Amino acid sequence: MARRTRQVGVVGRFGPRYGVRIRRRVQEIDETRRAKHVCPKCQAPAVRRRSSGVWQCRHCGHVFAGGAYRPVVTTSFKREAAASEAAEPSEEPSAKEPKAKTGEA
Ligand SMILES: [Zn+2]
Repeated sequence: MARRTRQVGVVGRFGPRYGVRIRRRVQEIDETRRAKHVCPKCQAPAVRRRSSGVWQCRHCGHVFAGGAYRPVVTTSFKREAAASEAAEPSEEPSAKEPKAKTGEA
């Protein structure tokens, strides 16, 4: 029994359907979605997905928003960096703007 889905993993449920490349992509997402992640509050590897974008730590009960299929998405860092960069020139107008634009490019 253990050998049955040895190579295909969680996407073994699809059988031979949908094509190998699509199944591999689904497998990657599906496995990270179900895996336990490290809690940002207590560092325990007990964070599970509660629903889409909602993650909960089974150790300390901390619930937080994250990516749909993983607690931290790399694109959200870029968005936060862009937001903080955009917020900075408004505090000090005109002087910082040229520097911020060269940093972005
Ligand atoms: Zn925790």
